[in-house]
Amino acid sequence: MKYNCKVIQDLLPLYTDGICSDVSAQMVEEHLKECASCEKIAKELQDDSVEKTLGKECDHVVLSHEKKVSKKMVTAGSITAAVLLIPVIVCLICNLAIGHALDWFFIVLTALLVVASVTLVPMLVVEKKAVYTVLAFTGTLVLLLFTCCFYTHGNWFFVAAAAVVFGLSVCFAPVVIHGLLSDGRWKRKRAWIVVAWDSFWLYLLLAVCGWFVHGNVTYWRVALGISTYSILLVWGWTAVLCSRNCNRWKKAGILVMLTGVWTGFVTDVVNFLLRDTENGLRYLDLAKGFPLDDPAVFNANMYFMMIAVSVFVGVICLCIGHGRGKSEKTD
Ligand SMILES: [Zn+2]
Repeated sequence: MKYNCKVIQDLLPLYTDGICSDVSAQMVEEHLKECASCEKIAKELQDDSVEKTLGKECDHVVLSHEKKVSKKMVTAGSITAAVLLIPVIVCLICNLAIGHALDWFFIVLTALLVVASVTLVPMLVVEKKAVYTVLAFTGTLVLLLFTCCFYTHGNWFFVAAAAVVFGLSVCFAPVVIHGLLSDGRWKRKRAWIVVAWDSFWLYLLLAVCGWFVHGNVTYWRVALGISTYSILLVWGWTAVLCSRNCNRWKKAGILVMLTGVWTGFVTDVVNFLLRDTENGLRYLDLAKGFPLDDPAVFNANMYFMMIAVSVFVGVICLCIGHGRGKSEKTD
């Protein structure tokens, strides 16, 4: 062998990066032709160098960017917090000076906590920003309601709080539960948990309202009856959408049928709950068509048409779904 292996191995990094002199490159090439062990090292260096360098640089860029962003966020968060503190201190002093005690100050404090929940939380939380922002917003809003109710000696806190939590749950429970249960054994049950959570708050809201207005038997019968009838439809939708035995066409078919039939009977259910016999499908008289001077018959015929059309469309979807299912199996 012409050259010493140690010397060549020293040169190899320069050679693979293409920054050594022509003379050195020639030396290395000559040696590599004769020496298997140095050739192996050279190959490894070539494989590694480009990818590793790129990978390292990428990681470095991403990391330093993340650091910069989080630094900026912390700075912005601190400034926001400082700005929010100014009215808190001013109100603290005013309240103490005027009232010689703290009362309405707590309303200002909790109101600013609500502001902080939608400004500070998303800035300072690193992961699952949406989830924690929604939770903080809901919590501080309920606290604000409590403070206001307490200050005004009101008795409406539970009604307002239940209404606020139910309203926010309908909008944001999917986001929060999706984020909180993103893995683990509850992951597949998320849709059911959302529906159960919303149902719980709906019934709680009904109960609180009933208590607040001293609801009589009719209140409970109508409120619970209509809510249960409506929420059963939502549970039905969830069951269909979460089903694993149906393809999309079958699901669509069942959803159309379920919704059509459910809404078709809604007046009858309401009438039954109100002990009212004015409307509903009992006035069905298809021979009359859609008479404008007879609303009971008009409505009954409309509802019947709706049920009929939804069942018709649903059956077509089911047939298509059945056909597709068969062809998928034979494929
Ligand atoms: Zn060698």
